[in-house]
Amino acid sequence: MNTLDCDVVIVGGGVAGGSLACNLRDSGLRVILLEMAKTTPQINRGDELAPCTVRMLDKVGALPNFFKRGAEKVTRWKAIGPEGETIVEVPLAATTYPPHNYILTLPHPLIEDALIETATENNGVEVIRGFRVTTLIKDPNGMAVGVAGTRDGAHWQVNAKLVAGCDGPRSQIRQQAGLHTEIHTYPYEYLMLTCILGPGQPSDVNIEVWGAFGFCGFFPITRGRVRCPVQAAPGEMARWREIGLKKVVEELKERFPYFKSMEVVDNDLHVYKMHRHHVDSYVSDGVVITGDSAHCTPAYYGIGMTLAMRDSYHAAKVIRRLFQEGTALTADALKPFEQMCRNYNQFVINASQNYGSVAAAKLQTAQEVQTALQTSTALDADVMSTIYADYDTPPPSDTDPRKVSRYVTSVTNAVRLKSHVVADGFGFCEAPRWHNNQLWFVDFFSKHVLTLGGDGKTSVVATVPGTPGGLGFLPDGTPLVVSQNDRKIMAIGKDGTLSEFADLSKFARGCANELLVDSEGRAYVGHHGFDFLGGAELQPASLLLAERGALVREVADGLIFPNGTALSPDGKTLIVAESFAMRLTAYDVAANGSLSNRRVWAETPGYTPDGICMDDEGAIWAGSPLAGAFIRVKPGGEVTHRVPTDGKWAVACILGGPQRKTLYCVTAETSLSQMPKGVSRAFIETVEVDVPGVGLP
Ligand SMILES: Cc1cc2nc3c(=O)[nH]c(=O)nc-3n(C[C@H](O)[C@H](O)[C@H](O)COP(=O)(O)OP(=O)(O)OC[C@H]3O[C@@H](n4cnc5c(N)ncnc54)[C@H](O)[C@@H]3O)c2cc1C
Repeated sequence: MNTLDCDVVIVGGGVAGGSLACNLRDSGLRVILLEMAKTTPQINRGDELAPCTVRMLDKVGALPNFFKRGAEKVTRWKAIGPEGETIVEVPLAATTYPPHNYILTLPHPLIEDALIETATENNGVEVIRGFRVTTLIKDPNGMAVGVAGTRDGAHWQVNAKLVAGCDGPRSQIRQQAGLHTEIHTYPYEYLMLTCILGPGQPSDVNIEVWGAFGFCGFFPITRGRVRCPVQAAPGEMARWREIGLKKVVEELKERFPYFKSMEVVDNDLHVYKMHRHHVDSYVSDGVVITGDSAHCTPAYYGIGMTLAMRDSYHAAKVIRRLFQEGTALTADALKPFEQMCRNYNQFVINASQNYGSVAAAKLQTAQEVQTALQTSTALDADVMSTIYADYDTPPPSDTDPRKVSRYVTSVTNAVRLKSHVVADGFGFCEAPRWHNNQLWFVDFFSKHVLTLGGDGKTSVVATVPGTPGGLGFLPDGTPLVVSQNDRKIMAIGKDGTLSEFADLSKFARGCANELLVDSEGRAYVGHHGFDFLGGAELQPASLLLAERGALVREVADGLIFPNGTALSPDGKTLIVAESFAMRLTAYDVAANGSLSNRRVWAETPGYTPDGICMDDEGAIWAGSPLAGAFIRVKPGGEVTHRVPTDGKWAVACILGGPQRKTLYCVTAETSLSQMPKGVSRAFIETVEVDVPGVGLP
């Protein structure tokens, strides 16, 4: 018997095992990965990684190993109806934030290779191939202490303090650890074809087709090729097996016009059954299981790998901590890993089933497809943004099978309000404020600070050559305005002249941005943190505090695109919108203006909060440019009201008017590509609400 010793033994070198190894490679632990296949199996089962997964891969330094294998970026997603007509087209830039606002595509075997290469770099994890694990070894107390198996006909034992079962749906480790599950097999099967794109067919778009013949996808992999999963109705696959690949392809070309100009490069029918299961527990004494060994779901949303990698990421976090603390690796100690993953995984399983029901519905018309998609919530923006939320986003709390739709309803049930345009003719407006019974705001492109009187007339108060940003007012009424490009705060004199109030350039990176001036005259101001308009990579930024007679100082950092800021009426709680993290973050405010006790006030999945204000019930109104809606959010994230903006950007809002019950909404007709070029048309809109505004701004 050959024997090895290590801290962690990972059984299985698929995406779950590979990404666990990547996340542990620099932990200082001795990690051994055992994989029974001598070489990576050449199987086509998922080549697409969601943006949140790409972000995790970047964190662990794996991305270069993907790109050197030819990984490509898919930037758009499109749904096509039965007649080939486009039903929905979504640029991914509108749903998630840079620099990873794309789906990364690479053939599945190369994904596994890229992970293993990353894990083994710098003598990180030791990978042993051709090792079939047969036994989970336990001590007399039932604690796992290693595994045994065979390699090249010889018997091997690997002693370890923790065994990670990443050995797929038929997991040996799961079974021998006594973790229970029930595996269901769906009646439909998947045919996975590989095709060469026809002339003029784009390679940066995922296309999904629904129709009377079921579901078919066209997902770019690399070098002008696409992977085409075809969902076969129950029974159909048996017939396809009889008639063979050539005839099947002829049929598919008839059914899906998009196929017609493509060349199929397979020689055989690659057919897969779809499983669903979710194990009772992901942990036992000395054991964790991740990926398909813990759960399976149909591949809608291209999510199986994301589930596997997300599990492994959280398992690695807990494993590192327990080893550092020297805590025994009991089921109880390992449980926090399961708590970060279970609800999320169940949510995805439920949503995937919903999706599957549309794909299986054999819909005859585009209208039917549209209605089915709406009713099933399969492509609901809120569901998708929950699924694609970053790995560290807390899992949804509600995962009862019937509650996927209830969760969605709680968002879509938000009271819908309609706004009306009261002024237009601007470029791109921001920073609306209610002051001295009139609306103040800025226009980036004319560089003006403006007011809007009750008569609907606008007046120019000042011109800011460095482009005006956030606005605020000192206790004596003096307006302050951010000069974005100079990274300064300027005071506006009575005659409109500007004088420097604070120079932010020591701290601000990219442009200076939003401003909140409190009742003491202290100015909280954010910055982009990177060259946002120039398309640079996103970097975290800080919140600065500027006051007369004092040096500018950083009062908070690590913020993801800090934007609109609001202060509670007692001046004790400050809330800042982190646009590209899709959340509102709160701080306690000390007597000297310092901030502490950072916490997530509300996640706003699907909404990139921009300009915000507070109402008398403690809720926040937020503009969300890319989602095209103003939303009213309660602490914790419940959305109670929505003001959709018919495709316009919902930039910023303020509660004003005589009783502060008029929501002034700043909107813009523009896009992510047009806005930096100065192509935009802005509007001021209003809508009456029940709860008046309080606090600042
Ligand atoms: C048709 C199809 C299409 C899919 N499309 C997508 C998609 O587009 N996007 C997506 O994200 N997901 C997709 N998936 C799902 C995805 O492939 C899986 O969820 C994912 O690969 C699971 O990874 P895993 O590492 O948990 O399991 P596996 O990939 O099954 O890895 C388990 C590994 O353990 C090894 N092993 C097993 N037993 C032992 C043992 N006793 N000793 C040693 N080694 C062992 C196996 O050889 C294997 O390498 C698809 C799946 C299918 C079937």
